[in-house]
Amino acid sequence: MKIDERLLPVRKRTRQIQVGNVAIGGDAPVSVQSMTTTKTADVEATLAQIYELAGAGADIVRCTCNEEQAAEGLAKIVPRSPVPIIADVHFHYEMAMAAIEAGVNGLRLNPGNLRKPEEIKLVAREAKDHAIPIRIGVNAGSLHPDLLKRYGKPTPEALVESARMELEMLHEVGFEDVKISVKASNVMLMINAYRLASETFDNPLHLGVTEAGPLPAGMIKTTAGIATLLAEGIGDTIRYSLTADPVEEAKAGRILLESMGLRKRKSVDLIACPSCGRAEVDVIAIAKAAEAELAKRSIPLQVAVMGCVVNGPGEARGADLGIAAGRHRGHLFIRGKIVRVVPEDEMVEALVDEAEKLMAEGVEARLAAADADAERLAEQDSRAARSY
Ligand code: SF4
Repeated sequence: MKIDERLLPVRKRTRQIQVGNVAIGGDAPVSVQSMTTTKTADVEATLAQIYELAGAGADIVRCTCNEEQAAEGLAKIVPRSPVPIIADVHFHYEMAMAAIEAGVNGLRLNPGNLRKPEEIKLVAREAKDHAIPIRIGVNAGSLHPDLLKRYGKPTPEALVESARMELEMLHEVGFEDVKISVKASNVMLMINAYRLASETFDNPLHLGVTEAGPLPAGMIKTTAGIATLLAEGIGDTIRYSLTADPVEEAKAGRILLESMGLRKRKSVDLIACPSCGRAEVDVIAIAKAAEAELAKRSIPLQVAVMGCVVNGPGEARGADLGIAAGRHRGHLFIRGKIVRVVPEDEMVEALVDEAEKLMAEGVEARLAAADADAERLAEQDSRAARSY
């Protein structure tokens, strides 16, 4: 089911920058980022993870560039990567220079860790010569000591001031291709810092709740922060920073954007009731199995699994494909039309089979086939009745 365009957030128009072949800001779709956890010097392991992340929905991947061997690794990784690569640089400007030389598509600089203006400007000049953008990546946990002294603690104003000071330095050398992040692990601090950043800058914003932690809390905190801002029209690219396999980050980012109608659906949207004492089938098991099977096949349909007649027919009717269960069986719907009755133990198979056919043949053809089946069955029944 398509999301009504009128319900979508009106995005704040920011300047557009280009990270490799991915546009960020302006009217570009909100992109998903993640970061590798391998040693960047280990080229094969890093590339394997980048491919996994791209497959899970990452549009851009960041790798740390913390030592000479990492920069050497990047030189081999970038040409073989399926997505643009950003080098994450903290303490040593030489690493930024080496990453640019290695051919990366963008840099992330942390103003709290790379502090000398002459070094920052040197990096900006080199990035400009190579036409690659820079993210000013402010982090509440590594705020510049001068700002900590001035503001007493990380505040929205302190985080935005850090970004403003760095931006000024980049502007001094004529560098404009900048995106900004003002991350914090505290959700409300993060939300308010980004609101202020959005009022202050016209640069694209990279959203994230930093160091969000393990699942499920990390996922919930990050979604609270990022989704709140996206719903206000703030944000051009996002990253979940989870203490988990980064594939979970890429998946979460993609699912969030698809759920909010900000990206075209690539994977299944499974609607299912939470189940309760009224349920007439094992909704949880059926929904879980159907979601896993449909996700494996990258089927971008909305599929409903509902446990009884209370909300079942309504939700099942509204989805592309749905089951509204009765006692150990259920009605199978295609775009609002009941096409047949399916026993409980065949529901997952029926949903997957029908979803594959819908993708291959289209809705009209499937509904016509269902009508033909129904007619054929009715004809068989009436012949059987006549023969008695
Ligand atoms: S649809 Fe039925 S089974 Fe599912 S939660 Fe609602 S009342 Fe319970």
